[in-house]
This record gives sequence, structure tokens and C-alpha cells, in this order.
Amino acid sequence: MAGLWVVTDQTILSTSRASAEEAVDVDLAGLVDIYASGGQAELERRIGDRLAITPVGRSRAHYLLADGAGNPITGDLERWPDLDPKVSELNSVTVMEDVPVLARATYLGPDLRLVVAYESDQADPLRHRVALAFLAGGTVFVLLVALFGRRAAYGLQSRIEQINAAFRVPETAPAISAPRHTRRGDEIDELADHSALALERVRRLLAAYRESSDQLAHEIRTPLMHLDQRLVKALAEPLPSSVSSKLVEARAEIRRIVRMLESLLDIASSKARKGDRHGLLPFNLSETIERICNLYADSAEESGHAFDWQIARDVWFDGEDIQISRIVTNLLDNAFKYVPGGGRIVLALEKGPVITVSDDGPGIPPVDADRIFERFYRRGGENTSTTGSGLGLAVARAIAERHGLTLTLEPSDKGARFRVARGIP
Ligand code: ADP
Repeated sequence: MAGLWVVTDQTILSTSRASAEEAVDVDLAGLVDIYASGGQAELERRIGDRLAITPVGRSRAHYLLADGAGNPITGDLERWPDLDPKVSELNSVTVMEDVPVLARATYLGPDLRLVVAYESDQADPLRHRVALAFLAGGTVFVLLVALFGRRAAYGLQSRIEQINAAFRVPETAPAISAPRHTRRGDEIDELADHSALALERVRRLLAAYRESSDQLAHEIRTPLMHLDQRLVKALAEPLPSSVSSKLVEARAEIRRIVRMLESLLDIASSKARKGDRHGLLPFNLSETIERICNLYADSAEESGHAFDWQIARDVWFDGEDIQISRIVTNLLDNAFKYVPGGGRIVLALEKGPVITVSDDGPGIPPVDADRIFERFYRRGGENTSTTGSGLGLAVARAIAERHGLTLTLEPSDKGARFRVARGIP
């Protein structure tokens, strides 16, 4: 708007100067003609006539007929303006105390010169009116654009917000497709439809996945448990010791397979629910960890480990109590498993929450710092002396990530130091 106003103002100025220029030149040419045909006396008379007329609707004119030195002979200007008559100079000057004029001066004869000046501030009222119109019109225009822009932006924002909300709470997804009567058929309606469809598909897939994995676990676990029961019955019969020891081994193997199966299902279900805050309820983490520590204190005595814990009071956390307990027990199980008797294990819980389990056992070299969290990875290979399937840390990390936590192996001078804290994995 300001730019448009500047252009308009400049156009008015240049147009009014052009017309003033034309008027000065026509008037001057007329007076030169009069001088040529009627002489100085006639010229003086005509200048007098022109000065006597008060112009209506056009610029007021001023004249000065002067001798060769610039001394006035006739006309309403008291002094010769700063114009060179030799070159018939045309310029904007001020006369009669600050009246801006456009004037041209010329020589009529060796001792006679004439200047014709037209007032050049005629366009000022028009310019003021235009400036006022631009100011008022511009303000209204800018306000209207702001108002409509805001309305449009608000409409757009609330429609996008609906889609965002559906992604935050996927259960509301079907509601984001605009009802038929409010549909505009634009890209946002299309985006809302696609988002609703995609979220619905993800929901169905997740449900199908959960159903089939639960079924799978059940289908495999049940026959294995039946097999275990049969072995128990067989063991009740009198059997040669070589056979019964084989049956006991078989039972241990079955239980190991069942545990492994459950761990794999836990990892899969935790990964599938990563970022889904459903079912995460606040619970007192301090109490839960305290309980676990008390249980492990007894086994520490038996295994000859020194076990200490420092637990900050009333640390609350949004999560599944049992799942978080699994992280802690898996870490403690490992510590008790890999730290030789006489070693020291320390668990700490700080506000945040930050859980650390550190020991002074053999530790884990930095090259394995990430690999130990992979499924089935066991340091020293499959046939290490200790029992385990290489899934404990993978389960712990999957559960941590499902809760928006990270489980990492921290650098430490001696032994291993695991840390669970908030963070994006
Ligand atoms: P598992 O204990 O069944 O082998 P995990 O996933 O729990 O499987 O651990 C992976 C590997 O990390 C283990 O095989 C072990 O070598 C190493 N590890 C885990 N915790 C410790 C620890 N506290 N001290 C030394 N090594 C450890």
C-alpha cells in the first residue's frame, strides 16, 4: 500500500509539473508574440490585464518585465528571480517570500527581459487528499486482510490439529474424516481421510499381531507344559538312574525353551507398543525397587556377594510396574551371574528416574557395549558355562524403550555399570 501511494504521489507531482511547464511556455510564447507585434507598451498593458484576472481552477501566474540589469519595469514580482534569461532557463524557484513557482525567463531585446512564473503548489491539495485516501483505505484493507487471513489460518490450524490429535490418540482416528456436509474436498480433507485409513490399518495390524502372538505363545507353551507334566509323571515311576537323569535334563531344557519363547514375545510386544502410552500408569518406583532389593539381599547372602542399594524416596513413574521390575531383575540377575562370589553389586535409584546397576566383576569390553543388547548375543559364544539365552538385556532394553527410557552400558573403571534413564533411544 505504501509503495502504491509513493508511485501515485510521484505521478501526480510529475503530471502537475508537466502541465505547469506547458502553461508557462504557452503564456511566455504569447507574450513574446505580443511584444513582437505591439512593442513594449502593448506588452506592459497585456501583463497588467493578466495580473488583474484572478484565475479559477488553474495556477496563479506572476510576471516581471525588467530592464537589462533586472530592475523591474512592470509585473507583480519585486525582484528578478535566480534565472538566466540568456538560455531561457526554466526552473522551480521561490518568489514573494516563499511562494514556490515554476518560472521561465527570456530576453526580449538587449535591454528587456521577461519572466513568467506559475505557482507550482497547485497539486498539493490533491496530493493530500490522495494520501488521506491511501491512509484510510490502506488501514481498512490491511485490517480486512488480517481478519480474513486470521480466520483462514485458524480454520486450517484447527483442521490440522484434528489430524495431529488423531495421531496422538489413535482411537479417535475415525472421527477425523470430515462429515459429508462439511467436506470441502481439498487436500486437507484428503489428508484427513488418508490419516484415518492409515491409523485404522495400523490399529487392526497391531490387534492382529497381538492376537496371533498371544495365540502363538499359548499354542507352543501349552504342549510344552503338557510334555513337562508327562515327564514329571514318568519320573514318579521307578526308573534306572541314567534314564531319570536324562528326563530331568529334558525338563530343564523344556523350561528354558518356554522362558526363551516368553522373552521373545516380550521383546516383540514391547517394540510394537513403543511410543504407545496406553496402560502406563503412575506407580511408586522407589517402593517397587526396594521390594526387589530385599528379595535379592537374601540370595546375595547365599552366593557370597556384597549387595548394596541406595534408593531415593517417592520416585513416581508412569509405566507398567511388572515390566519395569523385569528391567531391574534382569540387570541384577546378570550381575549375580557374572560377578564371582565376594564381588560387590550396587543398585541406585535417583529422581528422574535414573536407575544404575554397577558391579566390580569382569565387566564388558567397549567393543561389546552395543552387541550385548542384541538378541541371542552372549559374550564368549553360545556355550558359556553360565546359563542364559542371550535375551535378558534385549528384553530389558525393549521394555525400557517402550517406556521412553534408554538402557545403556556406561563406561566404568571396574566391572559393568548399566544405566536406565529418560531419553530418546
Ligand atoms: P545372558 O545373560 O542370557 O547371556 P544377556 O542378554 O542378559 O544374556 O547378557 C548378554 C551378555 O552380556 C552376557 O552373555 C554377558 O556376557 C554380558 N553381561 C551382561 N551383564 C553382565 C555383567 N554384569 N558383567 C559382565 N558381563 C555381563
